[in-house]
Amino acid sequence: MNKLLSGLITVLAIFLILLGGIFIIAGVDGAYENIAIGAVMVVVAIGLLFYIYRVEKIEAAKPKLVNQTFNVQMSGSGKLDQKQLTCRSCGAPLEDKDLRVVQGGIMVKCPYCGTVYALEEAPKW
Ligand SMILES: [Zn+2]
Repeated sequence: MNKLLSGLITVLAIFLILLGGIFIIAGVDGAYENIAIGAVMVVVAIGLLFYIYRVEKIEAAKPKLVNQTFNVQMSGSGKLDQKQLTCRSCGAPLEDKDLRVVQGGIMVKCPYCGTVYALEEAPKW
């Protein structure tokens, strides 16, 4: 996931927890709908934080995952896939759909880390 996006969601979640807390405190006097609104905000915030935590965990485990896929491809098909391109930034495998022909050059957009760069060498396919 994009680091900026995960940062924004984290800030949003913290904001929701604070706002939810204010609502719950305000509702102690007897406005029970405020407690309900505050509780919903806190639950949503925890959900967002849990989502970010899971995504970060998946991203942290990615290099291992890529290696495993690579090994399966090698032993499974019995041939080295020469078409397989990898991201210059994070090494994640790229597919044809991640490539775009722009002004005679080939642009690569990594779906994992979001890096965009021009491919210097024409892919062999
Ligand atoms: Zn990448």
